[in-house]
Amino acid sequence: MSAALAGARGATMRRIYLAPFQGVDRMVLDVIERCVQQGLGTPTGRLGESALPPGAFVAARHQHDSATLLRLLVERAPADALKILGVTEEDLGTPVLSFVFGQAQLDGPAAVISLARLRQEFQHLPPSLDLLLTRACKEARHELGHTFGLVHCGDLACAMSLSTTVRDVDLKDVAFCPACREQLDGAKRAAGEDVPDPAKPMEQR
Ligand SMILES: [Zn+2]
Ligand SMILES: [Zn+2]
Repeated sequence: MSAALAGARGATMRRIYLAPFQGVDRMVLDVIERCVQQGLGTPTGRLGESALPPGAFVAARHQHDSATLLRLLVERAPADALKILGVTEEDLGTPVLSFVFGQAQLDGPAAVISLARLRQEFQHLPPSLDLLLTRACKEARHELGHTFGLVHCGDLACAMSLSTTVRDVDLKDVAFCPACREQLDGAKRAAGEDVPDPAKPMEQR
C-alpha cells in the first residue's frame, strides 16, 4: 500500500466507541478502553453516559435484557463508529440464558458487557479491583471479537474461548490466539480498515 493511501485511510480510520450506561466508574472505563485499543488494534472513542432504558428491565429476573441494550447501542453509534461497546453495572440476561457476561451481534456493529458478575462481591468474596479489570478486559475483547465475526475458540487460553462461569473467565488469557488474531485482522481488512502487515511482533507465540 502506498504511503499516500495509508495516510488517507489513517485520516478516516474508524473508532470502536465505548458507551457507558449509568453508574460505571470512569477509571474502570479508562482501563477497558485501553484494553480494547491494544487488543483490537483500533482507535477508540468514548460516548457520554446514558440511562438504561426502562423497557430493558425484566422485573421477574431482576436483570436487563441484553438484546434491548444492543438495539439501543446501534442507534447511538456515531457515523465514524467501527463498533460500539456498551458497558453496564447491571446484570444481563436473555430470554433463554439465565445470565450473560455480555452479548454481541455476530459480525454486527454492537456488543455489550456487564460488570456485575465480574465482581468478587457477586460471590460474596472481598472485592478485587485487579480481578475486575482483568475480567472486564477479557470480556470486552471477547464480545468485540464476535462483532468481527469470530466464533467461540477451542483454545481455552484464547480470549474467544466460551466462559460460562467467572472461573472460565479467569482461566483464559486477555489475548486472542494466533488463529483468532489472524481472522480478526482479516475481518478488519475486509471492513476497509488499515491493518499493519502480519510481520508478527516478538510476543507472538
Ligand atoms: Zn461468546
Ligand atoms: Zn482463538
